[in-house]
Amino acid sequence: MTTETDIKIIKAQTSKLKNVNIENVPFGKYFTDHMLEADYENGEWKNVVIKPYQSLTFDPSMASLHYGQAIFEGIKAYKDPNGNPFIFRPIDNFKRFNVSAERMQMPTVPEEIFMDGMHKLIALDKDWIPAMQDHSLYIRPFMFSTDHLIGVRPSDTYKFMIILSPTGPYYNVPMKIYVEEKYTRAAPGGVGFSKNAGNYGGSMYATALARKHGYDQVLWTDAFEHKTLQEVGTMNVFFIIGNTAVTPSLEDGTILAGVTRDSAITILKEMGLNIEERKITVDELMEAHKSGNLKEVFGTGTAATISLIKELKYKDYTMQFNIDEWKVSKELKNRIDNIRYGKVADDYGWMYKV
Ligand SMILES: *Cc1c(COP(=O)(O)O)cnc(C)c1O
Repeated sequence: MTTETDIKIIKAQTSKLKNVNIENVPFGKYFTDHMLEADYENGEWKNVVIKPYQSLTFDPSMASLHYGQAIFEGIKAYKDPNGNPFIFRPIDNFKRFNVSAERMQMPTVPEEIFMDGMHKLIALDKDWIPAMQDHSLYIRPFMFSTDHLIGVRPSDTYKFMIILSPTGPYYNVPMKIYVEEKYTRAAPGGVGFSKNAGNYGGSMYATALARKHGYDQVLWTDAFEHKTLQEVGTMNVFFIIGNTAVTPSLEDGTILAGVTRDSAITILKEMGLNIEERKITVDELMEAHKSGNLKEVFGTGTAATISLIKELKYKDYTMQFNIDEWKVSKELKNRIDNIRYGKVADDYGWMYKV
């Protein structure tokens, strides 16, 4: 049992909702009427408040801007056919947030603030959840260091916030992917498993180069040989080889443990596929492609759910796929969506009622 936290609520005078068509918005551009804010000072969390969405002011020396103690999460809320709001697997994101916090030498956030705060914030802004297929309310919890001191050490003060953004389909077009052979996202012992801002900053150069050559994203490979496959862009990756779904295992800490990845594993099992979480190399992938066993390739993540990959390029070898023939990834997306939009029974306890 958690105790009821003292969360102060200051309501917005007017709603901005009438100015935004929430069924036709670009990802991450519009924010709801309220936000949650909490401060960590003298070893404890305080000043937990839900208030009108507004700018922050900070000192130019604020530590997170210089040394990157900044972590985040991405979660989605949906409406069921009766218009009741639900959040998809938020406890898993809460736990992962605190794993990221520990790795970045930041304080953990108590469940009362993260979960009850999110619950109350969404209850207040529930009219912002679009009631439409492929639409949802994106929830962005984040934390950053706030000491005003440009000395390299963990900050003594932090701010935890949650903001909300209505969203439609994200990457809805099948992607062309470049298998990265020079740049690295994560190495064992590093921070690849934590959802910290710097992982994104560090990935942008290689992604921009791939874009210049006509690809949408890169498929990250290991830091030593650039052979072992890790993730695709900011998504986990799955390969359907014969009747087996193969996805890179989490154990060397270079892979972000995606909630969608975990959901996909559960549903693919339900669909009768074998699941293998293990090391997989680009050489194995090319062999499977040459023998006709590589059936489908896709990325998984909260933003896009399932993103189909229609082409993979490694050195001079191109793997092209006829995605019109694909069944597994489309069925998987349908099954996950049906749970999220409350169209079928939630057998796994994934939906958290607001
Ligand atoms: C957030 C993220 C994912 C996807 O995680 P979900 O919980 O499924 O949204 C995958 N890879 C990286 C690097 C990420 O940051």
